[in-house]
Amino acid sequence: MLEIDILTIFPELFGPFLETAFVGLARSQDIVTIETHDLRDWAEDRHRSVDDAPYGGGPGMVMTPEPLVPAIEALAGRKGPERKTRVVYLSPQGRLLDQQSLTAMAEGPPILLVCGRYEGVDQRVLDLAVDEEISIGDYVLSGGEVPAMVVIEGLVRLLPGVLGNPESIERESFQGAALLEGPQYTRPPIYRGLSVPDVLRSGDHAVIDDWRRRTALARTRERRPDLLERAAETISKMVDGED
Ligand code: SAH
Repeated sequence: MLEIDILTIFPELFGPFLETAFVGLARSQDIVTIETHDLRDWAEDRHRSVDDAPYGGGPGMVMTPEPLVPAIEALAGRKGPERKTRVVYLSPQGRLLDQQSLTAMAEGPPILLVCGRYEGVDQRVLDLAVDEEISIGDYVLSGGEVPAMVVIEGLVRLLPGVLGNPESIERESFQGAALLEGPQYTRPPIYRGLSVPDVLRSGDHAVIDDWRRRTALARTRERRPDLLERAAETISKMVDGED
């Protein structure tokens, strides 16, 4: 069972998210445990403060080493070879999240997701207590909570037993062949004059598979040629025996 903990000053943001759809289902079936922890529970002063003005001046506030470091250590242990939990700080400066890293995380050790706020955290928190920084994209949000939800939603659907049909994972964009998925249709067969392609209603699975492969390739070439280039590089490395 995958264990995920979340450290945040806004645990209430996670309420319905953790109860609904696949995430709620996976939790109720003990496929994953997800717990939120209020960082302010570790704050010792009267105001339960977690931030202070930046050294060197400038706008905004920075999250202080106390109570963050003790909170992380209480939930995940001290940083080092003994630590069993992977401590991830959500940060626009982190490695970009992709399907491959989600797949690895789904199989890996327990995860503690640390959500920043304000202008981010004191560098010493990262040095002393964080194993890895992950970004969900090249833009800046005001907190790590939504990024943490992105990670969780991406992870949970990969866990065995969560999706009804594991094949639907295989066929999806970025999984398997790292292509975008082609167009999809459901009922009705004609909607406002637009028909479902005949091939999809032919019942011939070999022809349908072929059509899906071709439309996936065409769509990837049109929208994300970089994915095809990357796939070509990977393949040529494999052929050269470098990988
Ligand atoms: N001053 C910081 C940004 C702080 S944004 C900088 O320039 O790097 C406030 C918090 O939101 C961060 O601590 C982080 O936890 C979260 N956050 C913002 N954008 C994010 C992104 N693209 N991916 C992951 N986390 C992000």
